[in-house]
Amino acid sequence: MIVLNNVSKWYGDFNVLRDCTTSIHKGEVVVVCGPSGSGKSTLIKTVNGLEPIQSGQIFVNGTEVTSKRTNLATLRSRVGMVFQHFELFPHLNIIHNLILAQEKVLKRNHEEAREKALALLSRVGLDQHTEKYPSQLSGGQQQRVAIARALCMDPVAMLFDEPTSALDPEMINEVLDVMVELAYEGMTMMVVTHEMGFARKVAHRVLFMEEGLILEDTPKEQFFDSPQTQRAKDFLASII
Ligand code: ATP
Ligand code: MG
Repeated sequence: MIVLNNVSKWYGDFNVLRDCTTSIHKGEVVVVCGPSGSGKSTLIKTVNGLEPIQSGQIFVNGTEVTSKRTNLATLRSRVGMVFQHFELFPHLNIIHNLILAQEKVLKRNHEEAREKALALLSRVGLDQHTEKYPSQLSGGQQQRVAIARALCMDPVAMLFDEPTSALDPEMINEVLDVMVELAYEGMTMMVVTHEMGFARKVAHRVLFMEEGLILEDTPKEQFFDSPQTQRAKDFLASII
């Protein structure tokens, strides 16, 4: 589903991703962790072409992201991305936030888009808030809207970059619960997070990054029970 072959990227002289290779199968949930600045956000953004790379190849669902012939707008519409900050359109109410891209990108008619939006808002527990504006919702609610908005596009995979790290503690679980449900439904997911409870519960594999390298790419059990590198051991000790 998602394949990275020897992906390298530089910002000027700075080698931010170094020869990163991994593949994520359909239905697999992969958690990406590692110290600040190790390249996690950069890595995940390369997957939908938000960050160009200088060498290597990336494929999503058989489409080469890194090929000049690939239409990135089409690709991005099928790979949902949820960031730390909710990035909803502040001037649109919740239902319109969910309808806009369905109409513009997928060319769905208004009724169809609205139905889809309502179904997904209900699924994330927000059917009471469809007419509100983002600023009238809590952080956790806004993040659930962001997830529902991505799901409206019928994504083949979902990318998450620290979706709960800007939330107050009492709101973290309501967002993680939605993600856990998605994982159990078989969504292919790549999730940058330090929520190790989430990783233990639903991840199939954990990627541990440091200084642009994928230092470990191991089944979850192995990562938690016997990390291979001292760096991963130190990291786990520091966050748990
Ligand atoms: P964090 O846990 O803090 O989010 P991260 O693992 O997501 O960190 P990245 O945001 O991918 O790390 O950044 C990796 C490195 O690349 C950092 O050293 C960062 O300073 C550098 N970097 C990121 N974006 C740019 C940019 N546009 N230009 C130059 N350097 C950048
Ligand atoms: Mg980051």
